Amino acid sequence: MSTEIAWFRHDLRLADNPLLDFQTPPEQLICVYVLDIRWLESPLPGLAARRIGPARLQFLWQSLIELRGELLKRGSDLLVRIDDPVTVLADLAERNGASRVHVRHDAGFDEERAVSALVAELSRHCEVVQTEGGMLFDAASLPIDVADVPPSFSGFRRRAEKSWQVPESRLAPVTLPPWPRDAARGLPPLREVSPEAAGWKSDPRGQFRFAGGEAAGQARLDHYLWDTAALAHYKQTRDGLLGADFSTRLSPWLAQGCLSARQVHDAVRAWEARHGANDSTYWVIFELLWRDYFHWAAHQEGRTLFGVRELPLLSDDVRAWCEGRTGVPFVDAAMQELSATGWLSNRARQNAASFLVRNLAGDWRLGAAWFEHCLIDYDIASNWGNWRYVAGVGRDTRPRALDVHAQAGYYDPDGAYAAQWLASSTPFFP
Ligand SMILES: Cc1cc2nc3c(=O)[nH]c(=O)nc-3n(C[C@H](O)[C@H](O)[C@H](O)COP(=O)(O)OP(=O)(O)OC[C@H]3O[C@@H](n4cnc5c(N)ncnc54)[C@H](O)[C@@H]3O)c2cc1C
Repeated sequence: MSTEIAWFRHDLRLADNPLLDFQTPPEQLICVYVLDIRWLESPLPGLAARRIGPARLQFLWQSLIELRGELLKRGSDLLVRIDDPVTVLADLAERNGASRVHVRHDAGFDEERAVSALVAELSRHCEVVQTEGGMLFDAASLPIDVADVPPSFSGFRRRAEKSWQVPESRLAPVTLPPWPRDAARGLPPLREVSPEAAGWKSDPRGQFRFAGGEAAGQARLDHYLWDTAALAHYKQTRDGLLGADFSTRLSPWLAQGCLSARQVHDAVRAWEARHGANDSTYWVIFELLWRDYFHWAAHQEGRTLFGVRELPLLSDDVRAWCEGRTGVPFVDAAMQELSATGWLSNRARQNAASFLVRNLAGDWRLGAAWFEHCLIDYDIASNWGNWRYVAGVGRDTRPRALDVHAQAGYYDPDGAYAAQWLASSTPFFP
């Protein structure tokens, strides 16, 4: 009996997932997700802040539970382990005599190194097949050579838009190969993994609750495009700070791979076909192109994406920034919203990051690590890429300092945003 393994990472969906496209389907299939045990450690010296904070861990578990349900409906199942991914995959392949492990070619130094380590661990009877997916482009459809991605986003966009052809998203498979009879399956309850994550609740002042999984991601997409037509005004509202619909809020589903960028792209094109294209529809795709840019740039960067990896100790200033008590209301509101909801608008992220780097002369890597802990939508390439961009390190070294007081005056003229988060709030800190 031929047995193959689908190793899910940041691609927790069935639709438009090349991981499940088999040229010749195996007779048996094992679907596995491994929560890297190192994500439960803290990279910030002197601070009990795990790389994966409670908000994202809860969203991840919801996504895994839903993925398992969808796999079961198609005759398959899901195994979830918390361990070193390479050890789990090598062991699983050997025990089940698997001939192939399919995995997405993720951006990120650790992610790429894990795949190389797995190749070295596996017997010569088992090969690793790397797929691509989740982005607008794959290496074949990217109108630029992967090794030749320009240092600036503008250069990338100009070249991408010259011969723009995003491949269509694909439907979910109807059936899947069965599960090997004696192979382990299932996932541990979240309360056993992290009681804090199991009990985590988003602060209602955020006016939005993210729920993990493919169906919830699709529902948000439908809401934004078809139910409310908020898409029609995205360009005018996207710098908003308060409310649920000023931007798509699709980032958590895109980051965990509950939705692919091509699914969003196709939905926007379908909306344009019915209602007409405008600046706003263009701009949503433009933002997705930013995401692709950081993804392809991260592939090029490898280890240098993170700067020097060992982080310095937190100074009092940086700690105050994390806690949202710098004394600058616009920045403090943003940092408190981030801790209390696991999400932040792009405008608030830009200001919070700029303030740390320019006004406090803080180390950008500490800011990126804090965001990594807090964000539900944490994505290696987008987070570390945006931080490098704000800090002006690496590929694009132009200074990007924002005057946060001027920004507050422009984007929060009556102080409603600051008041929302600072009035009678209880500062959160792990
Ligand atoms: C310091 C900093 C850290 C960031 N960290 C992350 C992160 O870890 N994960 C993440 O998804 N985004 C990150 N961003 C980018 C951006 O702020 C969020 O993608 C956006 O705010 C999410 O809200 P939305 O889904 O409503 O976005 P929309 O404005 O509705 O945009 C649609 C989609 O486009 C993509 N997108 C938009 N802006 C960017 C951008 N600047 N870079 C990359 N992709 C973008 C996202 O996938 C987003 O869901 C960061 C930005 C900054 C300044």
